[in-house]
Amino acid sequence: MEFHLSKKLFKEANQYLVGGVNSPVRAFKAVSGQPVFIERGAGAKIYDVDGNEYIDYVCSWGPLILGHAHPQVVEVVKSVCEKGTSFGAGCEVEVELARQIIEAIPSIELIRLVNSGTEAVMSAIRLARAWTKRDKIIKFEGCYHGHSDSLLVKAGSGATTLGIPDSLGIPTALAKYTITLPYNDLERVKEVVEKQGEEIACIIVEPIAANMGLILPGKGFLQGLREITRQYRILLIFDEVITGFRVAYGGAQQLYGVQPDITCLGKIIGGGFPVGAYGGKREIMEMVAPLGDVYQAGTLSGNPIAMHAGLQTLKILAQPTIYEQLAQKTTLLVEGLQNTAQNCRINPFFTKVASLFCIFFTREEVIDYQTAKTSDTARYATYFKEILNQGIYLAPSQFEAGFVSLAHTQQDIEKTISASRDGFKAINNYGMVHSCLKACG
Ligand SMILES: *Cc1c(COP(=O)(O)O)cnc(C)c1O
Repeated sequence: MEFHLSKKLFKEANQYLVGGVNSPVRAFKAVSGQPVFIERGAGAKIYDVDGNEYIDYVCSWGPLILGHAHPQVVEVVKSVCEKGTSFGAGCEVEVELARQIIEAIPSIELIRLVNSGTEAVMSAIRLARAWTKRDKIIKFEGCYHGHSDSLLVKAGSGATTLGIPDSLGIPTALAKYTITLPYNDLERVKEVVEKQGEEIACIIVEPIAANMGLILPGKGFLQGLREITRQYRILLIFDEVITGFRVAYGGAQQLYGVQPDITCLGKIIGGGFPVGAYGGKREIMEMVAPLGDVYQAGTLSGNPIAMHAGLQTLKILAQPTIYEQLAQKTTLLVEGLQNTAQNCRINPFFTKVASLFCIFFTREEVIDYQTAKTSDTARYATYFKEILNQGIYLAPSQFEAGFVSLAHTQQDIEKTISASRDGFKAINNYGMVHSCLKACG
């Protein structure tokens, strides 16, 4: 495969864009690679500027559950554009999308639509602080909730009390209000809440962690969070920006049967356009302006293009057997990859749920950030580059989930498995022998 034009474009991009990209992971730094520039997408495929074709398992990091340029989404967007793209005033389709979401996710009684997942989460945290009149929040190590100040915080060395900024430019004084605990460790949550419960506004969690690779919640973890938050009048926020309409029509909360107080959404509900949303119990949401005194606004919020693209996507997802089809495809892929890996005498740790999957190049069972970090990122990079060259586009980082869309065919999946044989062979002299397949849903 040749990458002449991508190379040239990346060079030029670096003159004008920070690091040549508009979001860091796109620079391929984590795999020490040359980023490819994409010209178009169709179904499960993307095509770069050099004309190379790839089967895409990034799917724009989640939104494209129907695949690229789905005809019904494209059609509705085209016709909407002609009637004006934004009014800064109410439009009918935003009401329809809100109704569609609320019917899918019963814990949401009132919702506010915004323009990104980051914005949704940032606003949900403000609301939780206002509702509880408390300032501290608990989050989990390795969960990503967008790049707002309170959430770009990691655990400090004495851990459970003082958070420290995870980026320059975040006031230490603010980071102190964020407590970061290990994912799946309910005991640690209990310890902290027993001591500081009265000061904690919310616990925010990705109900399925999909930003440190893919890590499933252990048995009772989400239920445990629900119980302890109720006991201490702490709000439970599920960040379902990835999992909403992805792992089930009603999101991870439907899959695991746990209802949060506030849910954050994004990605799929915009059908490939910028979007986010936060919603929850009516009395809590009524604190948001104009009904209440928690301020939050947006120039392009609820614009008809994103609303129509999102609504069309959700309508397709609401049809029968969609999630069964997605799960079947993913099972076929992951089982094929696992068999192939074993035949190549390596046994990475696979995770999967619904249409999400991940291959961790480690012998450990991956249950949290620390165990995810045991993955050999050099081996991932080797595997990634080998299969990229064969036309398979996986996330350019070990610590991302893989996304399967409705557009992926059995043929696509078989091609992926056969390319992976070479990818695994390229690293098979490392002798990883521990095997464990964790599958759910
Ligand atoms: C992508 C993501 C976000 C941030 O959404 P943006 O639209 O990129 O701002 C927040 N939370 C989770 C769980 C995400 O995966």
